[in-house]
Amino acid sequence: MIYQVASCQKPRIAFISLHSCPLGNLGAKDTGGMSVYIREVAVQLAGMGYHVDIFTRKHEPHGGGIIPLAGGARLIHLDAGEQCETTEKISLYPHIDTFIQEIQKFARRQKEQYGLVFSHYWLSGVAGGQLARDWGVGHMVMFHTLAAVKNNLRVGNPEPQLRLKGEKAVVHSCQKIITATQRERQSISLLYDAPPEKISVVTCGVNMSLFKPRLDGQLRKELAVDDRRIILYVGRIEPLKGPHLLLEALALLKHRQDWCCLIVGGDQSSNEEIGHLKEQAIRSGIGERLVFAGLVSQEKLPAYYSAADLLAVPSFYESFGLVALEALACGCPVVASDVGDLKNIITPGMSGDIVEKLTGADLAAKIVNWINRPARTVEETGAIRKTVERFGWDNVAGELAKEIDSLCPQAARAV
Ligand code: UDP
Repeated sequence: MIYQVASCQKPRIAFISLHSCPLGNLGAKDTGGMSVYIREVAVQLAGMGYHVDIFTRKHEPHGGGIIPLAGGARLIHLDAGEQCETTEKISLYPHIDTFIQEIQKFARRQKEQYGLVFSHYWLSGVAGGQLARDWGVGHMVMFHTLAAVKNNLRVGNPEPQLRLKGEKAVVHSCQKIITATQRERQSISLLYDAPPEKISVVTCGVNMSLFKPRLDGQLRKELAVDDRRIILYVGRIEPLKGPHLLLEALALLKHRQDWCCLIVGGDQSSNEEIGHLKEQAIRSGIGERLVFAGLVSQEKLPAYYSAADLLAVPSFYESFGLVALEALACGCPVVASDVGDLKNIITPGMSGDIVEKLTGADLAAKIVNWINRPARTVEETGAIRKTVERFGWDNVAGELAKEIDSLCPQAARAV
């Protein structure tokens, strides 16, 4: 059979994001880095000429319809079970078939042909695998988190067998797995017996034009923190991210009056966890030193990272850890546990520190090193930002495009 390069038209890619909407409330219980990733990558790929349709479930307040995203990517909400924002992810499993049928109906109605399916998280992987088989195209998957890794850590509730089995089936049936770190690649090989050659590492990114230093000091004035040092936490409020460990560390610093702690993230879907943290803070005598800011939009986050003296990332597990990149892009140092790829990103003593053994005492010791320093200078801020300049989403999409093209030889047609 002879192949020749036909038109240069890029393929249409179906992104599957069943449980989490790329336009959802970031920092709520189940909406965070994955939504940011999908939105940023879809827009970048669309800017490179790919056509991207992102499928997610209908949920309040998005009742349906097609929402155009910048760059020509589209977000499509379709039926898949309950529409409330805070549904437990696992309860969507019985609705996967409905979701698949809705996507197929949409594709038929719109006369769209997809050249590749790119699924996010295991529930989407189950749906995406079926769609790819029906359409006779390749299936690329990014899990974002893995049940086996979570369960090995024994933090929070264990993940159900259903998820473990589902992940394993997707790992073995798909054509390509994308991970954001080498560490995650090894975990998938080891814990799910995945052939290493099936897994490609493509790092995550940061929006460098949005996340940049704000030198006006406005937020410090608004928060009336005077010259107290600000220790910042940004993220979903859940045990795996270790906010309780941060409070344990801060309790060891309660004799010092020169700091306060801002906790960003969490809405009513995280009320129970926030309640536990508030009780812990009061019990350990630091209740007055914490500010729970709730959800903060990404547009406003640069002011928080710029005002902070450090971002604490006390997580037990991160598949990448976007907030660390965002803080560094704003010139804010990051004190983090050894998760994701942060060890390769943070320069110890210059742009932050890694806490090797994740205990309250070790975390406190590293935090003290940073709050004992004079406030950072404009030059230091600029130097920290420089360390992450290579992480623009355009670079991430460029690397992903190579993976997409290798699975999707749309330009090569049999004649
Ligand atoms: N985020 C936000 N507002 C909040 C809390 C978090 O916009 O109140 C965003 C944050 O900017 C980051 C994402 O949510 O882009 C969290 O991603 P990360 O990789 O750190 O954690 P994940 O949610 O994937 O576990």
